[in-house]
Amino acid sequence: MRLGASPADDAFRAELASWLAAQLDGRFARLRQPDFNRNEFALLRAWERALGEAGYGCIAWPAALGGRDASLTQRVIFAEEWARAGLTPRPNHIGIELLGATLLAHGSDDQKARFLPPLAAGTEFWAQGFSEPNAGSDLSNIQTRARLDGDAWVLDGQKVWTSWAHNADWMFVLARTTPGSRGAKGLSFLLVPMRQPGVIIRPIRQMTGDEEFNEIFLDGARTDAANIVGAPGDGWAVAMATLTFERGVSTLGLQTRYRRELDQLIAAAKANGRARDPLLRHRLARAEIGLSVMRANCLRMLANIDRGTPGREGAVNKLYYGSWHQRFGELVMDVLGRAAEIAPGPDYAYQGLPKIFLQSRADTIYAGTNEIQRNIIAERWLGLPREPRG
Ligand SMILES: Cc1cc2nc3c(=O)[nH]c(=O)nc-3n(C[C@H](O)[C@H](O)[C@H](O)COP(=O)(O)OP(=O)(O)OC[C@H]3O[C@@H](n4cnc5c(N)ncnc54)[C@H](O)[C@@H]3O)c2cc1C
Repeated sequence: MRLGASPADDAFRAELASWLAAQLDGRFARLRQPDFNRNEFALLRAWERALGEAGYGCIAWPAALGGRDASLTQRVIFAEEWARAGLTPRPNHIGIELLGATLLAHGSDDQKARFLPPLAAGTEFWAQGFSEPNAGSDLSNIQTRARLDGDAWVLDGQKVWTSWAHNADWMFVLARTTPGSRGAKGLSFLLVPMRQPGVIIRPIRQMTGDEEFNEIFLDGARTDAANIVGAPGDGWAVAMATLTFERGVSTLGLQTRYRRELDQLIAAAKANGRARDPLLRHRLARAEIGLSVMRANCLRMLANIDRGTPGREGAVNKLYYGSWHQRFGELVMDVLGRAAEIAPGPDYAYQGLPKIFLQSRADTIYAGTNEIQRNIIAERWLGLPREPRG
């Protein structure tokens, strides 16, 4: 499949590539430096705003909501050029790809009009408030409560592993709104402003040295009664749609980023002589094959979603890319050898290829662990009996 074959697509690619090059050689050059840290929020916010002003905020969305009605081919081109430019993941990924997609599918017209244009303009950042200390894989065990008090929902509870919450203006929260309910019933999907006294955010430091995620304490946090997506008590179905987007189409850019990482590793193997090692050559070739399969699956998934049938590819996609990238992280360490184990500075601030090894330990956990994806495939798609619950 040759993407960008039509003159309009080729023109889109050329225009985007030249805009990105101009930005990344100029005002936003720091985004490509090896020690760039995703906690440099002022820069990331300015970058999202620049994308919005140039009309690249959310290209797939309808023009009336801040998008440009881009075709599937153009979405793939955007992801390819983004990765080719050497950029890290989209700063407001959670807002655009998770909440934006969920609102397009399940939001009211008022919610779309209120929340989507600021996402496209890059002015409002979001966090995902699903996981709790006792609700990760077993997500329906949510204990955070929300009750209506006049014209507002009032929330009490605790969330954990909330990525980038310390830079978020809003958080979408799964909370129990039917007192006494259990499991998936009685949950609601609420949109909650972060900057208020009832929301307490505590960063958690990771072994990469980054502070990506947080603990969140909700202590009488309030949000407008209208900020509920779907009906009260029907939040589980909405949250499952969000997870389908998170595991599937939102990861479009990943395989292009992995392409760049693999090319860097192949170059490093040639430079340090490990490319002559028969076992490492074999593993590099397997990584190449895996990446080709990932790309084919990604395009198939996109085509199905455009036909309105978000399918089983999401679970397969998550399982496949998470496992591939984790094996790739191990290959990085074996190709680079002992040099990869030495941090360039204090605080174990690893950069470049060695950092991939540390980061990729999380790839088989976030957005649902490998074991959970296998359960989904076994139970929902193969019709196997549900696993016994302990
Ligand atoms: C980098 C990163 C970013 C994250 N960002 C966010 C975020 O922004 N918002 C958010 O809400 N959450 C976020 N999470 C949390 C993530 O969704 C959870 O970590 C994940 O769902 C697993 O839940 P848990 O950590 O509670 O592990 P547990 O559910 O306690 O699982 C522990 C182990 O038991 C296994 N296990 C559990 N149940 C079963 C079963 N039924 N069958 C077989 N094996 C099972 C799991 O596979 C795992 O290996 C993030 C996680 C990471 C690593």
